[in-house]
Amino acid sequence: MDLYEYQGKQYFSRFGIPTSPGDVADTVEEAVAVAERYGYPVTIKAQVQVGGRGKAGGVKLAFDRDEARTHATNILGLDIKGHVVRRLWIERSSDIEREYYASFTLDRIAKQHLCMLSAKGGVEIEQVAEEDPDAIVRHHVDPLDGIDLDTARSLAVRAGIDEAAREGLAEILVKLYDCYAEGDADLVEINPLILTSDGRVHALDAKVTLDDAAGFRHPEWAEFGGNLDELDPRDRLAKEKGLQYVGLDGTVGIIANGAGLAMSTCDVVEQVGGRPANFLDIGGGANAEQMANALEVINTDEKVRSILINIFGGITRGEEVANGIVQALERVDIAAPIVVRIDGTNAVEGRAILAAHESERLVSRPTMLEAARTASELAAAAAGAR
Ligand code: GDP
Ligand code: MG
Repeated sequence: MDLYEYQGKQYFSRFGIPTSPGDVADTVEEAVAVAERYGYPVTIKAQVQVGGRGKAGGVKLAFDRDEARTHATNILGLDIKGHVVRRLWIERSSDIEREYYASFTLDRIAKQHLCMLSAKGGVEIEQVAEEDPDAIVRHHVDPLDGIDLDTARSLAVRAGIDEAAREGLAEILVKLYDCYAEGDADLVEINPLILTSDGRVHALDAKVTLDDAAGFRHPEWAEFGGNLDELDPRDRLAKEKGLQYVGLDGTVGIIANGAGLAMSTCDVVEQVGGRPANFLDIGGGANAEQMANALEVINTDEKVRSILINIFGGITRGEEVANGIVQALERVDIAAPIVVRIDGTNAVEGRAILAAHESERLVSRPTMLEAARTASELAAAAAGAR
């Protein structure tokens, strides 16, 4: 789960990482009231989950009430890379001496945490990586050791952080690691991490991605849950139903048991000229309930013209899947025709059940390739008929 900047800053505060005092506002009036409360100058910032807000006009300094009103009016409703601004974060402005970059994330290949630190903050890190890769110091952290203050200090030296900022930055780096590790985040990033003209170091921006799999031990994350509003309605429904779903932009809806099979199914559909509308893994033991949920999610996608159900039974049994599909069809009114391929354990029994219910809306094919062909043809025909 991605947090908004203001939520990320709240999360930082729990781990003692200094940020500027401020508050959120959803209307121009609220924004002006917050500005008045904190005193000018204030920085008014668009709360959208996308980077580069500054360049897009989503971050403005206001030096008096009129400016606060003007900026809040302009930023609310602004479209930043497809994200419409509905909430502002207003904080007391900082006097920036220098801008740095600091982050922790997981390096899956090295199987270790990765710390990145740079004296070139304030610009997108991808740009620094491209133009001046040596300006980014990369340091792997063994999860059993963590990171101590001395290591953080030496990283600051290696990254060429100004002497005045080193101690403060090293302390923040240790706390940022705690926020990442104890806080169960997949990513914590501060860009820019600043040195102020009066010699303090603090976080001016916050990017935090929480590890959803750790949600069970963080009941306090519930307060961030409202972010589901941002999701595509298909993604939201799938999440509510606990399905592994990724929306794509084609016309063939796909349901498979197992992530590997779901991916192969997408590939085979592409290979025969179709376009997958989604990736959906219903996991093992595909019962009627899961099948109905999966069909329901796919059914909300208006682009779907046919549905391909691809099941290879191991522990999953063919006749259970077939019964599941039949029962699901009784529960959910599905708009698109369904093509099923069942193989593996009890495939013969499963196919017999489907044969008894075969119609224009429900057909069965013996192989993945044939099923993908039929589903792609049905999708093309439906598109042509419109
Ligand atoms: P982003 O563009 O989405 O990454 O938004 P940031 O929060 O990183 O802000 C973008 C830029 O706005 C920063 O790099 C700063 O240069 C500038 N900025 C943000 N807050 C302040 C502030 O309080 N004072 C000053 N002078 N500049 C700020
Ligand atoms: Mg930033």
